[in-house]
Amino acid sequence: MRPSILYPIFAPIENISGIGKRYAGLLYGLCGNKIVDLLWHLPSGIIDRRCNVLLNQAANGKIWTGKVRVVEHLAPKTKKQPYRIAVEDDTEQLILVFFKTYGDGLSKQFPVGAEKIISGKIEIFNHSLQMTHPDYVVDAENAENMPLIETVYPLTAGITNKMLNKQIKQAISYVPQLPEWLDEHFLTQHNWPNFNQALRQIHNPQNLSDLEPNSPARRRLAYDELLANQLSLAIVRGRLKKQKGRSLTGNGTLKEKLLKIIPFKLTSAQQRVINEIECDLSSEYRMLRLLQGDVGSGKTIVALLTMLNAVECGLQTAIMAPTEILAEQHYETIAELCNKIGVKTALLTGNVKGKARKELLEDLSAGKIDIIIGTHALFTEDVVFKDLAYAIVDEQHRFGVRQRLSLSQKGNLCDVLVMTATPIPRTLVLTQFGDMEYSQIDELPAGRKAVTTTVMPLSKIHDVVDALERKLQSNTQAYWICPLVEESEKMDLSAATERFESLKEIFGDKIGLVHGKMKEAEKNAVMEDFKNGKLKLLVSTTVIEVGVNVPNATVMIIEHAERFGLAQLHQLRGRIKRGYEAGNCVLMYGYPLSAVSRERLNTIKNTEDGFLIAEEDLKLRGGGEILGTKQSGFSNFRLADLSVHGDLLLTASKEAALILHNDEHLQSPRGQNLRTLLYLFERDEAIKTYNAG
Ligand code: ADP
Ligand code: MG
Repeated sequence: MRPSILYPIFAPIENISGIGKRYAGLLYGLCGNKIVDLLWHLPSGIIDRRCNVLLNQAANGKIWTGKVRVVEHLAPKTKKQPYRIAVEDDTEQLILVFFKTYGDGLSKQFPVGAEKIISGKIEIFNHSLQMTHPDYVVDAENAENMPLIETVYPLTAGITNKMLNKQIKQAISYVPQLPEWLDEHFLTQHNWPNFNQALRQIHNPQNLSDLEPNSPARRRLAYDELLANQLSLAIVRGRLKKQKGRSLTGNGTLKEKLLKIIPFKLTSAQQRVINEIECDLSSEYRMLRLLQGDVGSGKTIVALLTMLNAVECGLQTAIMAPTEILAEQHYETIAELCNKIGVKTALLTGNVKGKARKELLEDLSAGKIDIIIGTHALFTEDVVFKDLAYAIVDEQHRFGVRQRLSLSQKGNLCDVLVMTATPIPRTLVLTQFGDMEYSQIDELPAGRKAVTTTVMPLSKIHDVVDALERKLQSNTQAYWICPLVEESEKMDLSAATERFESLKEIFGDKIGLVHGKMKEAEKNAVMEDFKNGKLKLLVSTTVIEVGVNVPNATVMIIEHAERFGLAQLHQLRGRIKRGYEAGNCVLMYGYPLSAVSRERLNTIKNTEDGFLIAEEDLKLRGGGEILGTKQSGFSNFRLADLSVHGDLLLTASKEAALILHNDEHLQSPRGQNLRTLLYLFERDEAIKTYNAG
């Protein structure tokens, strides 16, 4: 249960006066629906009204604040003209300009002879000073009502900065004095404010430097968030680790057979990670390990060899892929090898129905199937194993955390290996998985062909099509990847369809189209035609992104490459690396191309090292986007920014381990405060595992 001290800020945003239902809806889109969400809405700038020069020194285009006397009202002669009021200080006159306002209100607000303090942007017009719609007007005796420094927030239509400032100020007044969860020593050492002070400082910046992500207040809050993240992961992790698993050590007979029939030698990186995984499998604790390996690094054979340990023990294993195409591809590879060594495999996807499915499930629960390969269809309730000992989740970033766990729950103390082809920088591994064990295949099998990557503007598309025509005269095949359209999948689809239609005029029946909205069966049929060479050119949205293997395809054209994540581009390009000959990748961009986008495309052009690309992406764009916005599962931070707070993450990770080492169940007084921290950042799911027994 959430500690009661947090109730006020976890109340609905409508509790703040002046926020009605409709307005709450706008805020919801901007930051969230609880009061605490307003607190996490960080300013993007300040307006400084602390100018104290006289009017004759006021600068064009700058905010000016000062005391003026009202001289005269210049009522408009026609309706179209603005209403103007002349005011002055001791040095100069200034014209206040009001559009679409009528005299009445203004004559009350600005009686001739009155003294007012005003603030707004100065413009020079026809050699005279003017100010259109002053931002603030207060009576001279109420000078203190003028906010001299105004915090600027990111806004959305229907919300003004003034309103938001007021509401965030109110939200802050709801924050109770929270107990300190950080170590006192650590706080003084870093010279950080306490949480309440930090929050106030963040929302009342006095200088631009207060807005820096590395200001003490901001670092304090970022650290709080990262500590909550690391602590919650470490709690869950600690529980899993404590659960006894079982020791899986095969006798090696099947593995030996398999190694004899594969036509290559394992790379030393493959050998190393197999050892790491087997070490976990044979320990009596449950395994939860992440296996990273770039596209084409040979993860499948690693998975299979380690699975054979379980099979040799007479137990079952499962491998789950994110799409049917990928599951089928795994199945083809694995079944072919397994048939030769007498290991029984099966494929379970949404396409397996009726009698076939029933029989398969019977075999599975009777233990007649050693290795089952499938999609999320494996999660279905009626899928029951005789004894699942080891589950592998491939290309995992497409699955949610919950799904990942639910597969392992189908087994009794099941060991879990998560495989990903997306190179994830160490910092992101930490935020997503905590201090999870991880193995990395950092070497590609010998003889892989390089890919030449060129970057060019979309305006040269005709040249590209000409070159493609020539290329396809030979035995080569090619992918044409259509642009991501940010707004909607529907538009993605229409972009792909349009491109397909126009290319069809040139390539006729040699061209096929696949997209995410197609039925699996249709999609598979097109893919099949591409695989067997009937189709030469495959137009596609990003559905082919992961894993598809067509060695004859060595050309790839990516339209609007600037809209893709770097990791995604790298993955896509990986498709043409498995080929019989060196690949060619063309990245086409649209205008305008920002400097960052240009730099990103150049990164892809200049290197094929997935980890380097991922690190670069992290630097250029920050953590949340590494895997592309559509690929969820990666925690988004509200206050921490991994491109600047990476050092804090490492510290938080170490501290979380230390905290739990000393106080495993967070029961000490500080432990109680840390629980409050977990609730504050909504990382409290971990606490529930304490109660789960
Ligand atoms: P990924 O890591 O992208 O899943 P795969 O497991 O699909 O890579 O392997 C890609 C290709 O490389 C497959 O055709 C596989 O047979 C081959 N392969 C795997 N390991 C080696 C190796 N050590 N030497 C040569 N080829 C290998
Ligand atoms: Mg793979």
